[in-house]
Amino acid sequence: MNILNAVDKENIAIVGAGICGLCTALALGSKGHRVTVYERDIPPPEGGAEEAFFNWKRRGAAQFRHPHAFLSVMCNLLEERYPDLVGEFWRAGARKMTFTDTLPPELAATYVPEPGDEKMWLLMCRRATMETVLRRYVENTHGITIANNTSVIGITTEERDEAQAITGLELRTSEGDIETIHPNLIVDASGRTTKFPEWFEKRGCTFGVEDDDAEIVYYTRHYRLHPGEDEPPRHGEARSAGDLGYIKYGIFPADNGHFAAILCIPNHEEELREAVKDADGFQQICLTIPGIEPWVNESKSTPTTHPFGFGDIHAVWRHYVKDGRPQALNYFAVGDAAIRTNPLYGRGCSTGIMHAHLLAELLDEISDPAERALRFNEKTEEILRPIFKASLSDDKRGILRAKSIFEGNQLDEASTLRGWLRAAFLDAVAAAAREHIHVVRGALRTFNLMEKPGDFLKDRRVQWIVLRYLLRGRGRNAESRLQPGPSRLEMLAVLKDTAGG
Ligand SMILES: Cc1cc2nc3c(=O)[nH]c(=O)nc-3n(C[C@H](O)[C@H](O)[C@H](O)COP(=O)(O)OP(=O)(O)OC[C@H]3O[C@@H](n4cnc5c(N)ncnc54)[C@H](O)[C@@H]3O)c2cc1C
Repeated sequence: MNILNAVDKENIAIVGAGICGLCTALALGSKGHRVTVYERDIPPPEGGAEEAFFNWKRRGAAQFRHPHAFLSVMCNLLEERYPDLVGEFWRAGARKMTFTDTLPPELAATYVPEPGDEKMWLLMCRRATMETVLRRYVENTHGITIANNTSVIGITTEERDEAQAITGLELRTSEGDIETIHPNLIVDASGRTTKFPEWFEKRGCTFGVEDDDAEIVYYTRHYRLHPGEDEPPRHGEARSAGDLGYIKYGIFPADNGHFAAILCIPNHEEELREAVKDADGFQQICLTIPGIEPWVNESKSTPTTHPFGFGDIHAVWRHYVKDGRPQALNYFAVGDAAIRTNPLYGRGCSTGIMHAHLLAELLDEISDPAERALRFNEKTEEILRPIFKASLSDDKRGILRAKSIFEGNQLDEASTLRGWLRAAFLDAVAAAAREHIHVVRGALRTFNLMEKPGDFLKDRRVQWIVLRYLLRGRGRNAESRLQPGPSRLEMLAVLKDTAGG
């Protein structure tokens, strides 16, 4: 291994100024590399969060106006490395949701803090606020340059050691000129629609890909609380985020009195999917769900957008090493360009920032291009693969449960005894994770990516509690997983009445 010294710092091009591209720029810039970010969209408009949310033409990131949760792993990383950046978020109106804020009143009443609880917090703001603040901070730090309105339209490569070494990027600049640049190293942070795999494939270099459809659509509508109104409790008659079996829902509190409601619907629920597209249909569904109604009723808030959706939600993992050999050299993909998980788990930005920092660490430790590629692959597998696998297995279970409810069953039936036992175990964990502080704490550590998914289940005390839940029966546990609300048929009847009347 070669340790690089100051003269060996790289000239790095990052493609994409989304959240992962910007975090990669910070991670690499803070290590002294010369970083330029190429972004095809225009920069945010002058002004603050409101201008960015309502006026920024952000075509390159289709999820830009969907609400985003920023998990503890990301918040802690930002706070530890860039504390002044976190200060900027508070100044822009972002809020902190602490561990105690997430507890239902009955647990909060007897809560005794434990070391580490203070690390479990979420940063709550609209993605427009996050991106604008992050981008302005990046632009003013470590000499990082952002070339806006500049599209990467191709690559140049040469064959080296049976791999394609990337040697340049073809750009269409903001003036419309076509030019080729030759950085030492290229980071692909161009998101879910990355063209790099296609460009490499044309040169005979194919990346392996795992691709699984989550079989859901995700609908969002934004609201703003009326002046002087406080947010309703998150744990009233029902929780402000939960599952009715045939629909998952959630409220995302954000900055400056804004919040968003999301509804997540299985692909096969055609009537619901149709209803949710329409402002009245969306509102009617929200008013019918006890966990959301207190937020969206007209005495509390006003919608600020129409409902809008995001479909074609897949879990994707790209492989850049085949049979122990790197396929591409001097090319590293981070964030959605490399790995995607279902947005329901709110993990994409957090895994992206972990990925970015992992890359920055190893570029400093290793200089050989092939060794860098192999080690990046190894570390990505070690740190991000367990998160990807856990998300994928939750997707598969979600699909089974939704189909089962569609067919009129209360529980997802398993075809084998092993499958049934696993489903019963998971229902017991889910029920205990609502009622027992020790299990709640563990489950939240997993949710916030503060540990490898499910690590808390190795704890003896957690195991005993879960066993007690297991013994009380699957039906009861499954019931506590679901939030109070209309059954599927009742919801469809309400929608029919509204449409008819
Ligand atoms: C509906 C929805 C909700 C989500 N909710 C959450 C959440 O709650 N929490 C969370 O952590 N994650 C969430 N995610 C995932 C999260 O949005 C992504 O994981 C994250 O944005 C990935 O960041 P990125 O920088 O890799 O890509 P992106 O944010 O997509 O950015 C890619 C950038 O590259 C630019 N670009 C693309 N091609 C080129 C090119 N050829 N030349 C120049 N520029 C280019 C684009 O303009 C864009 O700015 C959600 C996703 C969706 C779809």
